[in-house]
Amino acid sequence: MNDSLLITGASQLLTLRGRGPRRGNSFSQLGIVNDGAVLVRDGLIAAVGPTAKVEKLAAARKAEKLDVAGRIVLPGFVDSHTHLIHAASRAEEYELKIQGASYEEIASKGGGILNSVKKLRAATSSQLKRRARATLEIFAAHGTTTIEAKSGYGLDVASELKILSLHKELSAAQPIEIVSTFLGAHVVPLEFRGKSNGPDEYIKLLTDWLIPEVSTNGLAEYCDVFCDRGAFSRAQSKQVLAAGLRHKLRPRLHAEQLSRTGATQLAVELGAASCDHLEQVNAADIRALAKSDTVAALLPGCDFHLGLKEYAPARKLIDAGAIVALATDYNPGTSPTMSMPMILSLACTQLRMTPAEAITAATINAAYSLGRHKRIGSLEVSKQADLAVFEVEDYREIPYYFGVNTCWLTLKGGHVIYAA
Ligand SMILES: [Zn+2]
Repeated sequence: MNDSLLITGASQLLTLRGRGPRRGNSFSQLGIVNDGAVLVRDGLIAAVGPTAKVEKLAAARKAEKLDVAGRIVLPGFVDSHTHLIHAASRAEEYELKIQGASYEEIASKGGGILNSVKKLRAATSSQLKRRARATLEIFAAHGTTTIEAKSGYGLDVASELKILSLHKELSAAQPIEIVSTFLGAHVVPLEFRGKSNGPDEYIKLLTDWLIPEVSTNGLAEYCDVFCDRGAFSRAQSKQVLAAGLRHKLRPRLHAEQLSRTGATQLAVELGAASCDHLEQVNAADIRALAKSDTVAALLPGCDFHLGLKEYAPARKLIDAGAIVALATDYNPGTSPTMSMPMILSLACTQLRMTPAEAITAATINAAYSLGRHKRIGSLEVSKQADLAVFEVEDYREIPYYFGVNTCWLTLKGGHVIYAA
């Protein structure tokens, strides 16, 4: 069996080469090679550069050949924020929202996250697994090769562990890499509501029982909290994230989505890997992020699906020097999409990011937020051969075409995981 592959003929090969995450002046430098080629060996990138140069290498002559005939090649997308495992869509709420009900009104009537919790608790592991597998194939079909996935629709010991175990099983059973995050603090579950100390008791369940259990069994790398109106306060969030840190789970945070809670400052204070949403950030929050290594992950799919006019201030964050990433926030309530190219389109038209900035945010910066920037997120020698090939003539056409899929081929570790 031939374990090497020579990919040639990329009219633009976007390498994203360089050191680590991008901020400031380096944000839009894609390291483009015209008429580029990549040589893959044992799943890793052995050479990258102009076709004329790479194909002359001795190892390239023996490799299996793939001519992409002028298409665009870039690193596979890294989706740093998804809620992969859930039992069903919430299409019924979608219609109510269109008719004028707000996200919070729906939540107060037992809809929203609690609706998904009810459905997940009733679902079997194999039902959830089947649904997630089909979903992962759609991620791959849109050029995504790594995703982060959060628990948070179980909210009891058995159901949260069921979700996190599925992350592990799925990561081993199919090609897309899954980075697992524990989001027991998504909202307070129904059985802990209605008495004044209920939320505190639930937090105690998380900090004293679930977090140690998750950590001991290696079921997550990160701990996340939905810090917002109707979910958890900044003080409660700190309690949960501090317990996570004690058990070697690095923080991520849902911050300043519906209201400004001070979650961004908390994320920076705790050295969180990322701070996500950020629609309501103020100038001090932006300054704090710009000075920190906490990634500002923007989720415009959520505002789009909810029909909100207020997107996160991407321009201000980028111009201030923050490390900005983009993610789908794939979830059944507020962002039912697996398409990173659609998120790029929204980032360009709604967040006023340039196509180059959007691609940086969806590859190397997202990889950094998952602690994997040394292995994925750019096309450089010795990195994993995670690539997406798009049926376009110019990289700017990836976000330019929206609502259609121009992804032509996706490779994970040098293996084809999707072909149009
Ligand atoms: Zn989320």
